[in-house]
Amino acid sequence: MTLRYQASRIIKGALYRPKTRGGGLAINGGTPVRDKRVPWPPWPSFDLKDRLELIRTFESGKWWYGEKVKEFESRFAALQDAKYCITCSTGTIGLEIAMQAHGIKPGDEVLVPAFSFVATATAVARMGGKPVFVDVDSSWCLDPDAIEAAITSRTTGVLPVHFGGRVADMDKIRAVADRRGLRVYEDAAHAWGSAWKGKGAGVLGRGGVFSFQMFKNLTAGEGGAITSDDEEFADKCRSIVNCGRVKSKAWYYHAELGTNARITELQASLLLTQLDKLPAQTARRERNAAILDRGLSDIEGFVLQPGDGRISRRSYHFYAFRIDAERFGCDRMQFVKACQAEGLPVTEMYYPEPLYRQPVFYEHPSGDYRNVKCPVAEDLAWKSAIWLNHWLLLGSESDMHQIVEIIRKVKTYATEIPSAK
Ligand SMILES: *Cc1c(COP(=O)(O)O)cnc(C)c1O
Repeated sequence: MTLRYQASRIIKGALYRPKTRGGGLAINGGTPVRDKRVPWPPWPSFDLKDRLELIRTFESGKWWYGEKVKEFESRFAALQDAKYCITCSTGTIGLEIAMQAHGIKPGDEVLVPAFSFVATATAVARMGGKPVFVDVDSSWCLDPDAIEAAITSRTTGVLPVHFGGRVADMDKIRAVADRRGLRVYEDAAHAWGSAWKGKGAGVLGRGGVFSFQMFKNLTAGEGGAITSDDEEFADKCRSIVNCGRVKSKAWYYHAELGTNARITELQASLLLTQLDKLPAQTARRERNAAILDRGLSDIEGFVLQPGDGRISRRSYHFYAFRIDAERFGCDRMQFVKACQAEGLPVTEMYYPEPLYRQPVFYEHPSGDYRNVKCPVAEDLAWKSAIWLNHWLLLGSESDMHQIVEIIRKVKTYATEIPSAK
Protein backbone atom coordinates (compact mmCIF):
# COMPACT_ATOMS: atom_id res chain seq x y z
CA MET A 1 0.00 0.00 0.00
CA THR A 2 1.40 3.37 -0.87
CA LEU A 3 1.72 6.01 1.80
CA ARG A 4 -0.15 8.47 -0.35
CA TYR A 5 -3.07 6.08 -0.59
CA GLN A 6 -3.10 5.44 3.15
CA ALA A 7 -2.98 9.09 4.01
CA SER A 8 -5.67 10.00 1.53
CA ARG A 9 -8.07 7.34 2.74
CA ILE A 10 -7.72 8.42 6.36
CA ILE A 11 -8.31 12.05 5.53
CA LYS A 12 -11.09 11.44 3.06
CA GLY A 13 -12.69 8.77 5.23
CA ALA A 14 -13.05 11.35 7.98
CA LEU A 15 -14.11 14.22 5.72
CA TYR A 16 -16.64 12.37 3.64
CA ARG A 17 -18.35 10.16 6.18
CA PRO A 18 -22.06 10.50 5.41
CA LYS A 19 -23.75 12.29 8.34
CA THR A 20 -27.13 10.68 7.80
CA ARG A 21 -28.15 7.43 6.28
CA GLY A 22 -31.49 6.92 4.67
CA GLY A 23 -33.61 8.21 1.87
CA GLY A 24 -33.32 4.88 0.09
CA LEU A 25 -30.82 4.04 -2.63
CA ALA A 26 -28.29 6.60 -3.81
CA ILE A 27 -29.32 5.84 -7.38
CA ASN A 28 -32.76 7.20 -6.40
CA GLY A 29 -31.41 10.26 -4.60
CA GLY A 30 -30.65 8.73 -1.19
CA THR A 31 -27.38 9.09 0.71
CA PRO A 32 -24.66 6.73 -0.55
CA VAL A 33 -23.19 4.33 2.00
CA ARG A 34 -19.71 5.43 0.99
CA ASP A 35 -18.65 8.71 -0.52
CA LYS A 36 -17.12 8.15 -3.95
CA ARG A 37 -14.14 10.28 -2.95
CA VAL A 38 -12.99 7.79 -0.30
CA PRO A 39 -10.43 5.73 -2.24
CA TRP A 40 -10.33 1.96 -2.58
CA PRO A 41 -6.91 0.28 -2.64
CA PRO A 42 -5.08 1.11 -5.89
CA TRP A 43 -3.89 -1.47 -8.42
CA PRO A 44 -1.14 -2.04 -9.34
CA SER A 45 0.18 -1.56 -5.83
CA PHE A 46 3.81 -0.50 -5.48
CA ASP A 47 6.20 1.17 -3.11
CA LEU A 48 9.75 2.30 -2.64
CA LYS A 49 11.11 -1.26 -2.78
CA ASP A 50 9.77 -1.78 -6.30
CA ARG A 51 11.19 1.57 -7.34
CA LEU A 52 14.65 0.95 -5.89
CA GLU A 53 14.90 -2.55 -7.33
CA LEU A 54 13.89 -1.30 -10.77
CA ILE A 55 16.40 1.51 -10.60
CA ARG A 56 19.16 -0.86 -9.47
CA THR A 57 18.53 -3.14 -12.43
CA PHE A 58 18.27 -0.17 -14.75
CA GLU A 59 21.54 1.28 -13.53
CA SER A 60 23.28 -2.11 -13.81
CA GLY A 61 22.80 -1.98 -17.57
CA LYS A 62 21.91 -5.68 -17.49
CA TRP A 63 18.45 -5.49 -18.97
CA TRP A 64 18.45 -8.77 -20.82
CA TYR A 65 17.28 -12.22 -19.65
CA GLY A 66 19.69 -13.18 -16.93
CA GLU A 67 20.08 -13.50 -13.18
CA LYS A 68 16.86 -11.70 -12.21
CA VAL A 69 14.80 -13.86 -14.55
CA LYS A 70 16.43 -16.98 -13.09
CA GLU A 71 15.84 -15.82 -9.54
CA PHE A 72 12.20 -15.06 -10.23
CA GLU A 73 11.67 -18.41 -11.95
CA SER A 74 13.10 -20.30 -9.01
CA ARG A 75 11.08 -18.32 -6.47
CA PHE A 76 7.85 -18.60 -8.44
CA ALA A 77 8.43 -22.34 -8.89
CA ALA A 78 8.80 -22.61 -5.10
CA LEU A 79 5.54 -20.72 -4.55
CA GLN A 80 3.64 -23.11 -6.82
CA ASP A 81 5.51 -26.25 -5.65
CA ALA A 82 6.79 -26.72 -9.21
CA LYS A 83 10.06 -28.32 -10.24
CA TYR A 84 10.30 -26.05 -13.27
CA CYS A 85 9.20 -22.53 -14.11
CA ILE A 86 9.76 -20.87 -17.47
CA THR A 87 8.87 -17.22 -17.81
CA CYS A 88 7.44 -15.92 -21.08
CA SER A 89 6.13 -12.70 -22.53
CA THR A 90 2.41 -13.11 -21.71
CA GLY A 91 -0.06 -15.66 -20.42
CA THR A 92 -1.57 -15.93 -23.89
CA ILE A 93 1.79 -16.80 -25.42
CA GLY A 94 2.43 -19.19 -22.52
CA LEU A 95 -0.75 -21.09 -23.37
CA GLU A 96 0.26 -21.27 -27.02
CA ILE A 97 3.72 -22.52 -26.09
CA ALA A 98 2.22 -25.11 -23.73
CA MET A 99 -0.03 -26.35 -26.55
CA GLN A 100 2.93 -26.53 -28.93
CA ALA A 101 4.99 -28.42 -26.33
CA HIS A 102 1.99 -30.71 -25.80
CA GLY A 103 2.59 -31.65 -29.43
CA ILE A 104 -0.79 -30.60 -30.75
CA LYS A 105 -1.42 -31.61 -34.36
CA PRO A 106 -3.96 -30.23 -36.85
CA GLY A 107 -7.42 -31.39 -35.87
CA ASP A 108 -6.42 -32.49 -32.37
CA GLU A 109 -9.13 -31.54 -29.92
CA VAL A 110 -8.56 -29.97 -26.53
CA LEU A 111 -11.43 -29.55 -24.07
CA VAL A 112 -11.74 -26.04 -22.67
CA PRO A 113 -14.35 -24.40 -20.43
CA ALA A 114 -16.97 -22.34 -22.25
CA PHE A 115 -16.66 -19.53 -19.70
CA SER A 116 -13.18 -17.99 -19.60
CA PHE A 117 -10.95 -15.38 -21.15
CA VAL A 118 -10.66 -15.94 -24.90
CA ALA A 119 -6.97 -16.96 -24.80
CA THR A 120 -7.83 -20.31 -23.20
CA ALA A 121 -9.46 -21.31 -26.47
CA THR A 122 -7.56 -19.27 -29.06
CA ALA A 123 -4.24 -20.74 -27.88
CA VAL A 124 -5.47 -24.18 -28.90
CA ALA A 125 -6.75 -22.92 -32.26
CA ARG A 126 -3.64 -20.86 -33.07
CA MET A 127 -1.48 -23.94 -32.58
CA GLY A 128 -3.61 -25.79 -35.12
CA GLY A 129 -5.86 -27.67 -32.71
CA LYS A 130 -9.57 -27.43 -32.18
CA PRO A 131 -10.91 -26.10 -28.90
CA VAL A 132 -13.99 -28.04 -27.84
CA PHE A 133 -16.15 -26.15 -25.39
CA VAL A 134 -17.38 -27.93 -22.30
CA ASP A 135 -19.80 -26.33 -19.88
CA VAL A 136 -18.81 -25.14 -16.44
CA ASP A 137 -20.77 -26.13 -13.34
CA SER A 138 -21.89 -24.24 -10.26
CA SER A 139 -18.20 -23.82 -9.32
CA TRP A 140 -17.73 -21.66 -12.48
CA CYS A 141 -15.01 -24.14 -13.49
CA LEU A 142 -14.97 -26.95 -16.02
CA ASP A 143 -17.70 -29.48 -15.19
CA PRO A 144 -15.85 -32.79 -14.68
CA ASP A 145 -19.05 -34.71 -15.33
CA ALA A 146 -19.41 -33.10 -18.76
CA ILE A 147 -15.91 -33.97 -19.94
CA GLU A 148 -16.56 -37.60 -20.77
CA ALA A 149 -19.33 -36.86 -23.27
CA ALA A 150 -17.12 -34.36 -25.11
CA ILE A 151 -14.25 -36.78 -25.71
CA THR A 152 -13.80 -38.07 -29.26
CA SER A 153 -11.09 -40.12 -30.93
CA ARG A 154 -9.30 -36.82 -31.66
CA THR A 155 -9.24 -35.48 -28.09
CA THR A 156 -5.73 -35.24 -26.72
CA GLY A 157 -5.97 -32.81 -23.84
CA VAL A 158 -8.07 -30.89 -21.37
CA LEU A 159 -7.35 -27.33 -20.25
CA PRO A 160 -9.35 -26.31 -17.16
CA VAL A 161 -9.30 -22.74 -15.82
CA HIS A 162 -9.16 -22.04 -12.09
CA PHE A 163 -11.82 -19.40 -12.37
CA GLY A 164 -11.05 -16.36 -10.24
CA GLY A 165 -8.42 -18.45 -8.45
CA ARG A 166 -10.94 -21.05 -7.33
CA VAL A 167 -9.21 -24.31 -8.26
CA ALA A 168 -11.24 -26.60 -10.53
CA ASP A 169 -12.00 -30.11 -9.28
CA MET A 170 -8.65 -31.50 -10.33
CA ASP A 171 -9.26 -34.91 -8.72
CA LYS A 172 -12.24 -35.63 -10.93
CA ILE A 173 -10.75 -33.99 -14.02
CA ARG A 174 -7.58 -36.02 -13.68
CA ALA A 175 -9.49 -39.23 -13.05
CA VAL A 176 -11.39 -38.86 -16.33
CA ALA A 177 -8.29 -37.70 -18.21
CA ASP A 178 -6.14 -40.57 -16.91
CA ARG A 179 -8.81 -43.13 -17.76
CA ARG A 180 -9.20 -41.73 -21.30
CA GLY A 181 -5.51 -41.06 -21.97
CA LEU A 182 -5.72 -37.25 -22.07
CA ARG A 183 -3.08 -34.81 -20.89
CA VAL A 184 -4.21 -32.17 -18.39
CA TYR A 185 -2.94 -28.59 -18.59
CA GLU A 186 -4.06 -25.74 -16.37
CA ASP A 187 -4.90 -22.23 -17.41
CA ALA A 188 -3.74 -20.87 -14.06
CA ALA A 189 -3.90 -17.23 -15.19
CA HIS A 190 -6.09 -16.41 -12.14
CA ALA A 191 -4.30 -18.66 -9.69
CA TRP A 192 -0.98 -17.28 -8.38
CA GLY A 193 -0.57 -18.95 -5.00
CA SER A 194 -3.75 -21.03 -5.26
CA ALA A 195 -3.31 -24.60 -4.06
CA TRP A 196 -5.26 -27.84 -4.13
CA LYS A 197 -4.81 -30.18 -1.17
CA GLY A 198 -1.55 -28.41 -0.35
CA LYS A 199 -0.10 -28.52 -3.85
CA GLY A 200 0.24 -25.43 -5.98
CA ALA A 201 -1.84 -24.71 -9.04
CA GLY A 202 0.20 -25.11 -12.21
CA VAL A 203 1.52 -28.57 -11.33
CA LEU A 204 -1.81 -30.32 -10.84
CA GLY A 205 -1.56 -31.56 -14.42
CA ARG A 206 1.30 -31.78 -16.88
CA GLY A 207 1.80 -28.03 -17.08
CA GLY A 208 0.23 -24.77 -16.01
CA VAL A 209 0.27 -21.24 -17.37
CA PHE A 210 0.22 -17.98 -15.41
CA SER A 211 -0.22 -14.36 -16.47
CA PHE A 212 1.46 -11.25 -15.07
CA GLN A 213 -0.60 -8.74 -17.04
CA MET A 214 -1.35 -5.53 -15.16
CA PHE A 215 -4.75 -6.47 -13.74
CA LYS A 216 -3.47 -9.79 -12.42
CA ASN A 217 -2.58 -10.37 -8.75
CA LEU A 218 1.12 -10.58 -9.62
CA THR A 219 2.21 -8.19 -12.33
CA ALA A 220 4.95 -6.45 -14.25
CA GLY A 221 2.55 -4.89 -16.75
CA GLU A 222 2.84 -7.92 -19.02
CA GLY A 223 4.47 -11.28 -18.53
CA GLY A 224 3.72 -14.95 -18.11
CA ALA A 225 5.09 -18.23 -16.82
CA ILE A 226 4.75 -21.93 -17.47
CA THR A 227 5.15 -24.34 -14.56
CA SER A 228 5.62 -28.10 -14.65
CA ASP A 229 7.06 -31.11 -12.87
CA ASP A 230 7.65 -32.83 -16.22
CA GLU A 231 11.22 -32.31 -17.39
CA GLU A 232 10.60 -33.15 -21.02
CA PHE A 233 7.66 -30.75 -21.25
CA ALA A 234 9.54 -28.02 -19.37
CA ASP A 235 12.61 -28.36 -21.62
CA LYS A 236 10.42 -28.05 -24.67
CA CYS A 237 8.72 -24.93 -23.34
CA ARG A 238 12.07 -23.41 -22.42
CA SER A 239 13.36 -24.10 -25.90
CA ILE A 240 10.30 -22.63 -27.63
CA VAL A 241 10.47 -19.46 -25.49
CA ASN A 242 14.12 -19.07 -26.44
CA CYS A 243 14.16 -19.43 -30.26
CA GLY A 244 14.29 -23.23 -30.22
CA ARG A 245 17.63 -23.29 -28.43
CA VAL A 246 18.64 -26.37 -26.47
CA LYS A 247 20.46 -26.32 -23.16
CA SER A 248 23.98 -27.74 -23.52
CA LYS A 249 24.02 -26.98 -27.26
CA ALA A 250 25.62 -24.04 -29.04
CA TRP A 251 23.93 -20.62 -28.98
CA TYR A 252 23.06 -20.75 -32.67
CA TYR A 253 21.77 -24.32 -32.58
CA HIS A 254 17.96 -24.43 -32.99
CA ALA A 255 16.09 -27.69 -32.51
CA GLU A 256 12.48 -26.60 -31.96
CA LEU A 257 10.21 -24.35 -33.98
CA GLY A 258 10.68 -21.67 -31.36
CA THR A 259 9.98 -18.01 -30.95
CA ASN A 260 11.35 -15.24 -28.79
CA ALA A 261 9.03 -14.94 -25.81
CA ARG A 262 11.66 -13.99 -23.23
CA ILE A 263 11.05 -11.39 -20.55
CA THR A 264 13.54 -8.72 -19.56
CA GLU A 265 15.51 -8.26 -16.35
CA LEU A 266 13.47 -5.13 -15.68
CA GLN A 267 10.26 -7.16 -15.77
CA ALA A 268 11.81 -9.86 -13.61
CA SER A 269 13.00 -7.27 -11.06
CA LEU A 270 9.49 -5.89 -10.70
CA LEU A 271 8.04 -9.40 -10.52
CA LEU A 272 10.48 -10.21 -7.71
CA THR A 273 9.52 -7.26 -5.53
CA GLN A 274 5.85 -7.81 -6.31
CA LEU A 275 6.27 -11.48 -5.43
CA ASP A 276 7.61 -10.43 -2.02
CA LYS A 277 4.23 -8.85 -1.33
CA LEU A 278 2.05 -11.61 -2.76
CA PRO A 279 1.80 -14.01 0.22
CA ALA A 280 0.60 -11.29 2.60
CA GLN A 281 -1.77 -9.96 -0.06
CA THR A 282 -3.19 -13.42 -0.66
CA ALA A 283 -3.69 -13.96 3.06
CA ARG A 284 -5.44 -10.62 3.30
CA ARG A 285 -7.71 -11.39 0.33
CA GLU A 286 -8.65 -14.72 1.91
CA ARG A 287 -9.38 -13.09 5.28
CA ASN A 288 -11.44 -10.35 3.69
CA ALA A 289 -13.28 -12.79 1.41
CA ALA A 290 -14.27 -14.73 4.54
CA ILE A 291 -15.77 -11.56 6.02
CA LEU A 292 -17.74 -11.01 2.82
CA ASP A 293 -18.84 -14.67 2.74
CA ARG A 294 -20.17 -14.40 6.27
CA GLY A 295 -22.00 -11.17 5.54
CA LEU A 296 -23.48 -12.12 2.19
CA SER A 297 -24.14 -15.84 2.15
CA ASP A 298 -27.75 -15.66 3.34
CA ILE A 299 -29.04 -13.16 0.79
CA GLU A 300 -31.83 -14.57 -1.35
CA GLY A 301 -30.87 -14.52 -5.02
CA PHE A 302 -27.24 -13.65 -4.31
CA VAL A 303 -25.21 -16.79 -5.03
CA LEU A 304 -21.51 -16.90 -4.16
CA GLN A 305 -19.05 -18.82 -6.32
CA PRO A 306 -18.66 -21.79 -3.97
CA GLY A 307 -15.36 -22.84 -2.47
CA ASP A 308 -14.18 -26.39 -1.92
CA GLY A 309 -12.59 -27.79 1.23
CA ARG A 310 -9.77 -29.21 -0.88
CA ILE A 311 -8.62 -25.73 -1.94
CA SER A 312 -5.90 -25.02 0.58
CA ARG A 313 -5.12 -21.53 -0.72
CA ARG A 314 -7.18 -19.32 -3.00
CA SER A 315 -5.85 -16.30 -4.83
CA TYR A 316 -9.23 -14.56 -5.13
CA HIS A 317 -8.44 -12.94 -8.45
CA PHE A 318 -12.18 -12.30 -8.43
CA TYR A 319 -14.69 -12.28 -5.62
CA ALA A 320 -17.37 -13.77 -7.83
CA PHE A 321 -21.10 -14.22 -7.39
CA ARG A 322 -24.31 -14.51 -9.37
CA ILE A 323 -27.38 -12.34 -9.25
CA ASP A 324 -30.46 -14.47 -9.78
CA ALA A 325 -32.73 -11.63 -10.95
CA GLU A 326 -36.04 -13.22 -10.01
CA ARG A 327 -35.04 -14.08 -6.48
CA PHE A 328 -32.85 -11.04 -5.88
CA GLY A 329 -35.37 -8.47 -7.09
CA CYS A 330 -33.41 -6.72 -9.86
CA ASP A 331 -31.22 -7.78 -12.75
CA ARG A 332 -27.44 -7.73 -12.97
CA MET A 333 -27.07 -4.33 -14.63
CA GLN A 334 -29.46 -2.69 -12.16
CA PHE A 335 -27.46 -4.25 -9.34
CA VAL A 336 -24.19 -2.92 -10.78
CA LYS A 337 -25.51 0.62 -11.26
CA ALA A 338 -27.06 0.70 -7.79
CA CYS A 339 -23.85 -0.56 -6.15
CA GLN A 340 -21.76 1.98 -8.03
CA ALA A 341 -24.04 4.79 -6.83
CA GLU A 342 -23.56 3.55 -3.24
CA GLY A 343 -19.79 3.87 -3.67
CA LEU A 344 -18.84 0.28 -4.55
CA PRO A 345 -16.92 0.01 -7.83
CA VAL A 346 -18.39 -3.27 -9.05
CA THR A 347 -16.78 -4.09 -12.36
CA GLU A 348 -18.78 -4.06 -15.58
CA MET A 349 -15.96 -5.96 -17.26
CA TYR A 350 -17.35 -9.48 -16.87
CA TYR A 351 -16.99 -11.94 -19.75
CA PRO A 352 -20.04 -11.06 -21.87
CA GLU A 353 -20.36 -14.23 -23.93
CA PRO A 354 -19.68 -17.93 -23.59
CA LEU A 355 -16.53 -18.30 -25.67
CA TYR A 356 -18.20 -20.17 -28.51
CA ARG A 357 -20.39 -17.09 -29.05
CA GLN A 358 -17.40 -14.83 -29.67
CA PRO A 359 -17.28 -14.03 -33.40
CA VAL A 360 -13.90 -15.73 -33.77
CA PHE A 361 -15.61 -19.06 -33.04
CA TYR A 362 -19.31 -18.45 -33.73
CA GLU A 363 -18.59 -17.17 -37.23
CA HIS A 364 -15.86 -19.72 -37.91
CA PRO A 365 -16.14 -20.91 -41.55
CA SER A 366 -16.33 -24.52 -40.38
CA GLY A 367 -19.64 -23.75 -38.67
CA ASP A 368 -18.41 -26.02 -35.86
CA TYR A 369 -19.54 -23.70 -33.11
CA ARG A 370 -22.98 -22.67 -34.38
CA ASN A 371 -24.86 -25.25 -32.37
CA VAL A 372 -22.82 -25.39 -29.19
CA LYS A 373 -24.90 -24.87 -26.08
CA CYS A 374 -23.55 -24.68 -22.56
CA PRO A 375 -26.44 -23.55 -20.36
CA VAL A 376 -24.44 -22.72 -17.23
CA ALA A 377 -21.89 -20.66 -19.16
CA GLU A 378 -24.73 -18.89 -20.98
CA ASP A 379 -26.44 -18.02 -17.73
CA LEU A 380 -23.19 -16.70 -16.24
CA ALA A 381 -22.28 -14.65 -19.32
CA TRP A 382 -25.66 -13.36 -20.35
CA LYS A 383 -27.44 -12.96 -17.06
CA SER A 384 -25.90 -13.55 -13.73
CA ALA A 385 -22.09 -13.36 -13.33
CA ILE A 386 -20.55 -10.44 -11.45
CA TRP A 387 -17.32 -10.03 -9.57
CA LEU A 388 -15.36 -7.66 -7.42
CA ASN A 389 -11.76 -7.11 -8.49
CA HIS A 390 -9.06 -8.53 -6.26
CA TRP A 391 -7.70 -5.18 -5.16
CA LEU A 392 -10.93 -4.36 -3.34
CA LEU A 393 -10.10 -7.36 -1.14
CA LEU A 394 -6.92 -5.55 -0.08
CA GLY A 395 -9.05 -3.01 1.78
CA SER A 396 -9.55 -2.82 5.52
CA GLU A 397 -11.97 -4.89 7.56
CA SER A 398 -14.28 -1.91 7.74
CA ASP A 399 -14.18 -1.66 3.93
CA MET A 400 -15.48 -5.23 3.85
CA HIS A 401 -18.29 -4.42 6.25
CA GLN A 402 -19.15 -1.50 4.03
CA ILE A 403 -19.31 -3.78 0.97
CA VAL A 404 -21.70 -6.01 2.89
CA GLU A 405 -23.76 -3.00 3.93
CA ILE A 406 -23.96 -1.76 0.34
CA ILE A 407 -25.02 -5.09 -1.11
CA ARG A 408 -27.58 -5.64 1.63
CA LYS A 409 -28.97 -2.15 1.07
CA VAL A 410 -29.26 -2.78 -2.67
CA LYS A 411 -31.07 -6.03 -1.88
CA THR A 412 -33.51 -4.22 0.45
CA TYR A 413 -34.53 -1.75 -2.23
CA ALA A 414 -33.88 -3.98 -5.25
CA THR A 415 -37.34 -3.61 -6.73
CA GLU A 416 -37.05 0.19 -6.74
CA ILE A 417 -33.98 0.33 -8.98
CA PRO A 418 -34.75 1.91 -12.33
CA SER A 419 -34.17 -0.28 -15.35
CA ALA A 420 -30.60 0.23 -16.55
CA LYS A 421 -31.01 0.19 -20.32
C1 LIG B 1 -5.33 -13.01 -18.39
C2 LIG B 1 -5.70 -14.38 -18.84
C3 LIG B 1 -5.00 -15.06 -19.85
C4 LIG B 1 -3.96 -14.41 -20.71
O1 LIG B 1 -2.98 -13.76 -20.07
P1 LIG B 1 -2.23 -12.49 -20.73
O2 LIG B 1 -0.99 -12.40 -19.93
O3 LIG B 1 -3.14 -11.33 -20.56
O4 LIG B 1 -1.97 -12.81 -22.16
C5 LIG B 1 -5.35 -16.36 -20.12
N1 LIG B 1 -6.36 -16.97 -19.48
C6 LIG B 1 -7.09 -16.34 -18.54
C7 LIG B 1 -8.18 -17.09 -17.87
C8 LIG B 1 -6.80 -15.02 -18.21
O5 LIG B 1 -7.54 -14.38 -17.29
